[in-house]
Amino acid sequence: MSGPGIENINPRRILSRMTPYSPGKPIWEVQREFGLTQVTKLASNENPLGPSPLALEAIQAYLSEIHRYPDADTVDLRAVIAEKRGFSLDQVLVTNGGDELITLLSETYLEVGDEVIVPSPTFSEYEFGANLLGASIINVPLRDNFRYDIDDIFAAVTERTKMLYICSPNNPTGTYMTKLDLHRLVKGLPSHVLVIFDGAYSHFVTADDYCDGLALVREGYPVVVLQTFSKIYGLAGIRVGYGIADAGILQRIRQVKEPFNVNMLAQVGAAAAIRDDQHLEATRSNNAAVREALYTALRELGLPFTPSMSNFVLVDLGVQAKAIYDTLMSRGVIVRYGAGWNLLNHVRISIGTSEENAVLVQALKEIVAVKA
Ligand SMILES: *Cc1c(COP(=O)(O)O)cnc(C)c1O
Repeated sequence: MSGPGIENINPRRILSRMTPYSPGKPIWEVQREFGLTQVTKLASNENPLGPSPLALEAIQAYLSEIHRYPDADTVDLRAVIAEKRGFSLDQVLVTNGGDELITLLSETYLEVGDEVIVPSPTFSEYEFGANLLGASIINVPLRDNFRYDIDDIFAAVTERTKMLYICSPNNPTGTYMTKLDLHRLVKGLPSHVLVIFDGAYSHFVTADDYCDGLALVREGYPVVVLQTFSKIYGLAGIRVGYGIADAGILQRIRQVKEPFNVNMLAQVGAAAAIRDDQHLEATRSNNAAVREALYTALRELGLPFTPSMSNFVLVDLGVQAKAIYDTLMSRGVIVRYGAGWNLLNHVRISIGTSEENAVLVQALKEIVAVKA
């Protein structure tokens, strides 16, 4: 018998292999740490125009009802999404952010020993989900200029491959998989591979040869298309995302999800936001214009970047990247350092308003002039 203590209370062994997600630093933390009042956050790909005004209105109108449990089946929101995207109600599953969909897919479909193919560098939540369930992660490096190569992906497929993630446009590179490649890939895979097509940024894409994956779901392929209200719809703080897939695939996920996973303010806010075409268009055109202004400034500074189809740009700052990132931070400009993706010479800069972009560019100019 030993005395009281927690030394014999052991977590699952797998946890020793897992590192916690490292989010973009919040504004308040940088304010406190550096004694700043003015902070510009360009680190988490949030909507710089704020939430949709229609969403705010809907959320405010609902506030007096929050003593009630939310709709466990998210019927109204699913109906709006289904209609907007051209699917039936049972082909839509709403989740507590796109992140929860990744976790739920992992919990529903992965066993110890399964292999999950993850083209890299990419969004870290895919590895998190696989690790959580004890599945093996098979990284397939992107090619030059962070281009997808589907033959590399085919070569990684084995009998144990259970899932394949395609993030397009990819976070953090902004590169995308062409429609031709996506169709060739999905149609060429063995039938035991579930493809998770992460379209978190698909509404920002302007390329003609892009495909958002929905056509493949319609044709009956085992593809889950992930979408989120956190990016173009401006609702990151309220946590809502969704998946579109075959009804049978989603039905199995419903077996593992918590009944009240999506809160009611998120449900009513998202249902209003998805109807707000004006806000979507304003966000899209701000993004295109400011991204172009950022490209111009980066060219003037001689800083190489990866052309992006998304609302962020991956910039190569060379060996000084960490120092430049730190100096930007101390001056109240938060971007994302690439270390988490093993991109030690890079930062990812979210597209802000033109005012925010001007602050970033001015700070970069001054810092790069000193470091050069
Ligand atoms: C932001 C993001 C998501 C989803 O984020 P949520 O806030 O959980 O909805 C999914 N995939 C990628 C690549 C993202 O960048």
